[in-house]
Amino acid sequence: MKIAERVAHLGTETAFAVSAEATAFAAQGNKVYPFHLGDLNLKTPANVLTAGIKAMQDGKTNYCANAGVPQLREILADDVSASRKAQYSMENVAIQPGGKPTIGKFFLTLMNPGDEVLYPNPGYPIYESQIEFHGGKAVPYGYIEGKNNFDIDTDMLESQITPRTRLLVLNDLQNPTGAECSQAELEKIAELVLKYDLYVLSDEAYFDIRYEGQSKSLVSLPGMAERSVILYTFSKKFVMTGWRLGATIGPKEIIDIIIKLNVNEESCSNHFVQYAAIEGLVGNQAETRQVLKTLKERRDLTVDLLNDIEGISCIRPNATFYLWPNVTGAMQKTGLTDYDDFRRTVLHETGVSFCTRLHFFRRTVLHETGVSFCTRLHFGRPLEGENNYYIRMAYSGINPPEIKEGLGKLKAFIER
Ligand code: PLP
Repeated sequence: MKIAERVAHLGTETAFAVSAEATAFAAQGNKVYPFHLGDLNLKTPANVLTAGIKAMQDGKTNYCANAGVPQLREILADDVSASRKAQYSMENVAIQPGGKPTIGKFFLTLMNPGDEVLYPNPGYPIYESQIEFHGGKAVPYGYIEGKNNFDIDTDMLESQITPRTRLLVLNDLQNPTGAECSQAELEKIAELVLKYDLYVLSDEAYFDIRYEGQSKSLVSLPGMAERSVILYTFSKKFVMTGWRLGATIGPKEIIDIIIKLNVNEESCSNHFVQYAAIEGLVGNQAETRQVLKTLKERRDLTVDLLNDIEGISCIRPNATFYLWPNVTGAMQKTGLTDYDDFRRTVLHETGVSFCTRLHFFRRTVLHETGVSFCTRLHFGRPLEGENNYYIRMAYSGINPPEIKEGLGKLKAFIER
């Protein structure tokens, strides 16, 4: 079989492999503490669910407009205009089957083969995959660990700009670090965008998963709405990950092309789900607020327990449902210097290490924890000069009793 050459450039989310490993381990009768999941173990708000069922019963089960149901586009344009302090109308909104489709459609619309695209690393792995799949060159920029936040390394970002650089991916309120841009960082990014004539994919998947204060979008800065495309999703705020609904929001000229891509790729997004989303935006927000309250409690518990483990230090981000603890000391303590060894040893039991060159096999039985998480390696290739080790702990899919039990076992394992 001759598979198309471009497929060689298609990446994936290796975090799904961690999930499969944890599921297999649990199927053998082991207890697993799922900190690897970027999904929520909470319910979609009842009013949203009911609106979806009603729409289905009302016959909203056929095709609808390629750009999305007009009422939803209008309501979303108003909502995003108010929260992002920018001016959007329904013509600026193309409804999508999830947040993720915006990524590929953005590159298809604005990137020519050979164009260079700046993207966050560590970051959501689909940027790199889609840039390279569509013939671009993915150029990473990193983060610097501060006292209370990870800051974008804007010096590195600027130093990576060349005459071929055309696009920038910004994921403020970031997966996996939970990083949030300060006003100064946003201003610096806006300055670079204008200076180097860039266009921006502003991935705002976690804009509403925020515990205190107000999220701010790059598009609120002068000149940025004209140069930015927002990735919007209903997945997180309304606990709708499996419903698959999101939107691309940006300049009309770009949105018109993206609507044409909708026609080519999926005709339209799921019709009745769009009525559930309308209810999410305009209906009672009591359950949505409760979701944030629940997540905040889990965040505090997880951060406190992680910081109580020798060799781990964890920043307390104000947004997302991810933590990016620095585990350099803990890994040194366990003598495991390879990310995958460390992750598997913590999950399983063995501390197996292979010296394949010498066909020498060593097995040391340590003590299992069942704690499952992703590591730095699931969020891009480590950058030159990176000498600290990080893992990603998601608290969106695990309840407080399991958080306590699992992190208790992790502490015992590392401190032993
Ligand atoms: N962008 C980021 C940063 C994400 O973490 C995710 C999902 O985890 C997405 C986009 C995609 O979201 P959706 O599930 O709505 O496709």
